[in-house]
Amino acid sequence: MRHGPVMMAAALLNTVWWLAGCAVAQPIAGEDARALADRVRTEYVVSLAQTHTQTVEITVIFDGIDAPTLDLHLPVWRPGRYAVNDHAGTVRRVRAEDGDRRPLGVEKTAKSTWRVRTGGAETVRVQYDLYANSLADRTRHADDTHAFLSGSSVFMYAEERRAEPVRVTIDAPDGWRVATGLDPDPHLERSWIARDYDVLVDSPIEVGLHHLIEFDVDGVPHQIAIWGRCEPAADTLRDDFAKIIATQRDIFGDLPYGRYVFLIHAYPGGSGGTEHLNSTIMQTTPAAVEGGDAYRRLLGLASHEFFHTWNVKRLRPAGLVPYDYLRENYTDLLWVAEGTTVYYTDVTLVRAGLVKPDDYLRDMAGRVASERARPGIGVQSLAASSFDAWIKFNRSTPDSVNATVSFYSKGSLVSLMLDMEVRRLTDNAASLDDVMADLYRRHTVESGGFTTADLLASLERHTGTSFDEFFERYVSGVEPLDVEAAYAVAGLTLEPRKPRDEDPKSYLGLDLRQEGDFAVVAAARADGPGYAAGLIAGDQIVALDGMRLRAGDLDRRLRRIEPGQDVLVTFIRREELRETRFKAAEPKPTGYTLTRVKEPTDLQVAVYESWLGQDWPGRSESQPASSEPADPDDPHAESKP
Ligand SMILES: [Zn+2]
Repeated sequence: MRHGPVMMAAALLNTVWWLAGCAVAQPIAGEDARALADRVRTEYVVSLAQTHTQTVEITVIFDGIDAPTLDLHLPVWRPGRYAVNDHAGTVRRVRAEDGDRRPLGVEKTAKSTWRVRTGGAETVRVQYDLYANSLADRTRHADDTHAFLSGSSVFMYAEERRAEPVRVTIDAPDGWRVATGLDPDPHLERSWIARDYDVLVDSPIEVGLHHLIEFDVDGVPHQIAIWGRCEPAADTLRDDFAKIIATQRDIFGDLPYGRYVFLIHAYPGGSGGTEHLNSTIMQTTPAAVEGGDAYRRLLGLASHEFFHTWNVKRLRPAGLVPYDYLRENYTDLLWVAEGTTVYYTDVTLVRAGLVKPDDYLRDMAGRVASERARPGIGVQSLAASSFDAWIKFNRSTPDSVNATVSFYSKGSLVSLMLDMEVRRLTDNAASLDDVMADLYRRHTVESGGFTTADLLASLERHTGTSFDEFFERYVSGVEPLDVEAAYAVAGLTLEPRKPRDEDPKSYLGLDLRQEGDFAVVAAARADGPGYAAGLIAGDQIVALDGMRLRAGDLDRRLRRIEPGQDVLVTFIRREELRETRFKAAEPKPTGYTLTRVKEPTDLQVAVYESWLGQDWPGRSESQPASSEPADPDDPHAESKP
């Protein structure tokens, strides 16, 4: 219902794309773009004359209206972030007129819905202003240098028009240029075409004075558009992004778009990204795009967002098909959409030669350590974390560490376990790569997305073994993850790092942040004695054992406190000075090491090498990659490559 005959014809014409299950991403060009443009009955005009006041004016022109009322909505969330954001809050001065510019009545009927009384008019023009001041959530931002517009927070829609092609015309200051995954309108300058509203929402638009880097992979054009004061390391970015693209293409077998755009906002403190249909918006620091500090983080971000091109943009959980823009969309598979993406984010960088295997293994050992230190791992399952993302993961509280898991990081560890289990059961003849590619080919957005049953079926097809029990334990259940067994398949030993003099000798279970003169409790961990003693988030700790405590000093102070020893915590709560005394607990493991075994089997070497795309470095010696800086007392430290 949401896809018109033109799109389906386009999909069928191009057999390769269609077989790959990518009709949703079918690039439109030539005849198709002209045919779509000819069918447009809804046009958005974006006026950027007032961006210096962070105001963007939108005009929507509906032709061919034949109803007494027209209901318009603005999405309450945006794809890629599973939280209600209520974009309508920054809309103002909504007004409507007919084709002869006679005013029409507009009333609000819900928080994100406006009803226009058309008075029988065939053409209805609706105009409104947006306050575009939300940079860090990657929805809408404007100032005197640019405008960034992500469709779900900008463009109102009529449900009955959702499946129709739309045109966007951008009226921008002289010299500003446009970067977007939308296709240019073949008939009009400064206009772009989207096959339907979903494509519009999934094609953010950057307008301004950005740097532009262009390159091809497999003959397919790619662009990197960078807004912000910086001198991008263009050649490095081009080469490294191309390696990431090629590495992930090898997993799924194709590049499912006609053109891809990396939009980058480079500004102090910038971080994070959002995936879109054939583009992504990534935020980072100027130093990172110049190849300096945090460049590797930028590569990780690019790898992550680009992997979403397949995983979630095309291979999408059924609960997210079709998008319901006016309320929460429920799925228990965000751990695949995000967690499996996190898993491949890092694996891609190693395979592409952009991160050394030992650096990767050190990071993974660290991830295991922080995941296991989280009390919530025994409370909330991965499936539940996915389902409740709207009210838990994306609405965190100081208690989140005790009550929830991250479908990102725990999802990545379970993805590793799945990968290694498939490799173990098939003597490395198959891997999670094959399962992901198989799901991608079979379950298109058009066919309704994929379910946990589909994932289980694919795993069983590849291994001849049921994964029901695995899922009961680690996906719908909360059993501790046997990551050790998974790493052993690739010839790696995961073990707690040996204690060091600088490690804390005991544990209070308090996460602190420094605010002014006080070490404020950010979270009291449910497995700690501070929690049991009644210390709560927001308590301002003045002193530990009679001496002022600063947040950054807690571990150092705990080097002199033995488990079982009494501690006295003096703190302020609601202006009242209080104290509590309790016994310090045994310390938690502060790190893990992930080490190659000394005598790997041929299968372990084969798994390691095909998994990371790198040679096993020497077959006779153990090679450490600890989660902490190399220990000078560690006999293996010198042999580290
Ligand atoms: Zn993601």
